[in-house]
Amino acid sequence: MLSIAHGATGALIASKIPNPFISIPLIIISHYVEDRVPHWDIGQGLTRKKKSKMAAFLEELFFDFPLSILFVYFVFQVGNPLDWHVWLGWFVGLLPDFLEFPYLFLNMKFFPIKQLAVLHGWVHRSTPQKLWGILPQILVILIVLVLK
Ligand SMILES: [Zn+2]
Repeated sequence: MLSIAHGATGALIASKIPNPFISIPLIIISHYVEDRVPHWDIGQGLTRKKKSKMAAFLEELFFDFPLSILFVYFVFQVGNPLDWHVWLGWFVGLLPDFLEFPYLFLNMKFFPIKQLAVLHGWVHRSTPQKLWGILPQILVILIVLVLK
């Protein structure tokens, strides 16, 4: 899913479960569960070479990634003291994607980067249909807003 969905989920779990020994595994599991739902994301089109790696990287860097930070900031932090749990949750929510970055973009294909990327790819389900692929992520964001 998009970083905004994963980051929001991670922040929500971490805000509800302050013990990182419990929240971190749950957040990692949430990432893979969300990625299992057929969705549209920035990487869509990479495997069929419809989009360049550079275009995907720039979209992630200037659109999806900053949006995930802004979402967490405005939903969890505005009006509240700095809560490192929330930011740790955001980071861990994105961690499987961070760990896939060197494999996808820097061609680093060695242990454990390669094995993690294979696991990620095995779980991942995407759709080229933007509307149907964005809808489950809007749902995730709405659930986070309701539960926060
Ligand atoms: Zn992912």
